[in-house]
Amino acid sequence: MIKTGKEHLSQLRDGRVVYIGDEKIDDVTTHPAFEKAAQKVAELYDIKHQEIYKDVLSYEENGELCSTWFLQAKNKSDLRKRSKAHKVIADQTSGMMGRSMDHVASFVTGMSTNPDIFDSGKYKFKENLLNYYKYMKKNDVFASYAVVPPQAARNPEFYQKQNLPIPTLSVVEENKKGVIISGMKMLATSAVFANEIWIGNLVPLAPDQIKQAITCAIPCNIEGLSLWMRQPLSTHYDNQFDSPLSWNMDETDVLVMCDKVFVPWDRIFVMDDAILAREIYIKTPAHCYGNHQANVRYWSKMELITGLCNKIAKATGADQIPAVRETLGKMSSLEANLSGMIHGQIEAAETWPNNHMTFNRRMMYAALNWCTENYTPIVDELRTLCGGGVFQMPASINVMKNEKLKKDFETYFQTPQMDAKSRMKLFKLAWDVVGSEFAGRQQQYEKFYAGASFIIKNHSYRETPWDYFDGVVDSLMDKYDLPEN
Ligand SMILES: Cc1cc2nc3c(=O)[nH]c(=O)nc-3n(C[C@H](O)[C@H](O)[C@H](O)COP(=O)(O)OP(=O)(O)OC[C@H]3O[C@@H](n4cnc5c(N)ncnc54)[C@H](O)[C@@H]3O)c2cc1C
Repeated sequence: MIKTGKEHLSQLRDGRVVYIGDEKIDDVTTHPAFEKAAQKVAELYDIKHQEIYKDVLSYEENGELCSTWFLQAKNKSDLRKRSKAHKVIADQTSGMMGRSMDHVASFVTGMSTNPDIFDSGKYKFKENLLNYYKYMKKNDVFASYAVVPPQAARNPEFYQKQNLPIPTLSVVEENKKGVIISGMKMLATSAVFANEIWIGNLVPLAPDQIKQAITCAIPCNIEGLSLWMRQPLSTHYDNQFDSPLSWNMDETDVLVMCDKVFVPWDRIFVMDDAILAREIYIKTPAHCYGNHQANVRYWSKMELITGLCNKIAKATGADQIPAVRETLGKMSSLEANLSGMIHGQIEAAETWPNNHMTFNRRMMYAALNWCTENYTPIVDELRTLCGGGVFQMPASINVMKNEKLKKDFETYFQTPQMDAKSRMKLFKLAWDVVGSEFAGRQQQYEKFYAGASFIIKNHSYRETPWDYFDGVVDSLMDKYDLPEN
């Protein structure tokens, strides 16, 4: 099935426990910190029902429509379809909602194309994984994930020495029906708006951290689970004009706290196996499917930033200056770089695993690394082009409500290029990309969403055919030797 926005919102009214500080939220679809972003999420479900997007965002399987991110790619055309679907979703938020419903779903779909790995340890969980994939697909489930232990709590020794509970989420009890988990996971973006949380370990564990190696899925309203929200970003504003992105695109980040949460056996995918807990992401196309989505999502953002650079330069009149045109040319080439890296992943797709096809892994990791390393300098180009214009604008467009202020604003803030209102609208949007609290969170997100930068580079290292590159050097060196005399 493909859900409607209304159906999804009604599923979020399920008694989930969300805290902002000590405030317990009754309904995330109506609370001021969440309601507008919840509506945005609902829109993402609704566009699947629009005739123009139906073909891209869904496919038919056994007479039922399914969301494209559940498509197991058999050829390049399937990969292209997946990629286009991510782009349509990302374009609705200009790439500002990274953990849209197509992200974790892509991980699980990637796993489903190589499920044997789930049978490779002590436990046999292949059927669990396949059933979970089918369940997600059938019910158009929105899952978020929490796959990193809480920061600075990764060494259990400190806690053990003092007889304190280890904060990192782990299995504390096991019985016939399932396991009990307690402890924290660092963050789950979008969990507030999701149906489920995938709990796992994308960061390598020490081989003896077996009780932390649990990989499972839990509903967001399960007993014992609470979601601790960071400072919300949309509540400082009373209109969208003043802060267009903060207004309805705070996708939320919550710490995941489990206090004796029961997980039935059929929702467990890895147990007591620290190595397998991570391998399920990289020995299946999970990481590749999921992070292709991340690349495409960033591309939507890149298009917005490139356009903003050009419009801001025109607004300040600097676009006529040769040095500024060079900057604009550079921004355009950066956007094209990323677009090329995304298309390349499809053109150079890998026939893997079994009868499936996957985006080119090395190119995907290269794009991921490029995105992580370049976000700060890219945003800084826009910041530089803005100059002080962002602070020349009044605090709020509410100036238009006062006749005297309105007259002065419209008279003095107009320029040869633009009327006052359009100018303020543009600069407020630019500020939400470069300087607001929302912008700061985006910067942190782009640096860390796929792990710290050294982790991403290690993925590239792992996927590199070093023998091939060594061979290139060897075959050149084989063509000459010691001089004859
Ligand atoms: C906005 C946001 C949203 C997030 N959403 C999610 C989510 O939905 N699900 C989820 O599971 N996680 C999420 N995360 C967490 C994210 O996965 C982690 O932030 C990331 O893996 C880095 O871990 P850390 O924050 O603990 O940093 P640390 O590992 O503590 O690293 C801190 C700094 O130290 C450096 N460092 C640490 N160790 C080394 C080393 N060995 N070599 C070199 N440098 C090192 C790092 O490069 C980094 O600069 C999110 C994070 C952010 C910021």
